[in-house]
Amino acid sequence: MGCAGSVGLVDTKRMRSVAFANIQTMPLVQAINLVKTYETGQSVLGMRGTGRVRAVDNVSLTIGRGETLGLVGESGSGKSTLGRMLIRLIEPDSGDIVFDGKELLRAGRAELRRLRRDMQIIFQDPFGSLDPRMTVEQIVCEPIVIHSSDGRKARRQGAAEMMRAVGLDASALARYPHEFSGGQRQRIGIARAMMLRPRFIVADEPVSALDVSVGAQIVNLLKQLQHDFQLTYLFISHSMPIVRYLADRIAVMQQGKLVEVGETERITTAPQHPYTRALLAATPELHATGR
Ligand code: ADP
Ligand code: MG
Repeated sequence: MGCAGSVGLVDTKRMRSVAFANIQTMPLVQAINLVKTYETGQSVLGMRGTGRVRAVDNVSLTIGRGETLGLVGESGSGKSTLGRMLIRLIEPDSGDIVFDGKELLRAGRAELRRLRRDMQIIFQDPFGSLDPRMTVEQIVCEPIVIHSSDGRKARRQGAAEMMRAVGLDASALARYPHEFSGGQRQRIGIARAMMLRPRFIVADEPVSALDVSVGAQIVNLLKQLQHDFQLTYLFISHSMPIVRYLADRIAVMQQGKLVEVGETERITTAPQHPYTRALLAATPELHATGR
């Protein structure tokens, strides 16, 4: 992992020197030449006989402090794999990740533990991602129980505050996930992700399973939280209108490769890559207004 091959070594040297630069001017997240290949054990469409899929193929990107980077691309293009690698939920085969000036893939156990508090994920499915046997309080407080020495009373108070921050009543803590609607469950998932006051959140299609109007409320909640808690987002979506609304820049993935990255306005008005153009053309609202 990390610096396999000469290209990796060169990049590692470069990153070490970058680490001495002023940390405030550096991006919060830097990914360099990330690769992830899955052994599928069976032939994969288009790669018949290999039994391998290069889910993320030599991807480099940066995400600035306080920025929202939108990540778009069709299903199977590698968005989730990339997002999970950035917070080290999935180990890359090769490449480097620098988080806040620190090399994430080379962090020792104690440093990794500290870094993990700073990076959280919000999942697409608010039904599948919450354990139905746990109360909302147990769900929301779980990261704190793992990562902090706060007592029960302090945890409960923190959880109650966070419930209000995500637009739920503190009384929700005593209830179970099945008692809530999809939008409310997503708010619970967001509260859980926020409990350790992370700085970076990977939101992996957080509104794709929701009705449009409910999804819009969640998108606005994420915007509000970003403002209130100075968050940096990787916002994964296959919806161009949502990404356009939320993202400062947009990155476009196709078959494991990053084919285009740019300011939201530029990507949506003057896409360079044919695949980006195809994605935009498939979005009626954007197409009709020419934006
Ligand atoms: P996206 O989020 O854009 O839909 P994914 O990152 O989930 O893309 O998947 C990228 C590719 O990797 C797809 O071809 C998918 O089938 C494959 N893949 C993802 N996870 C696994 C896994 N655990 N085992 C094998 N193949 C996987
Ligand atoms: Mg995905």
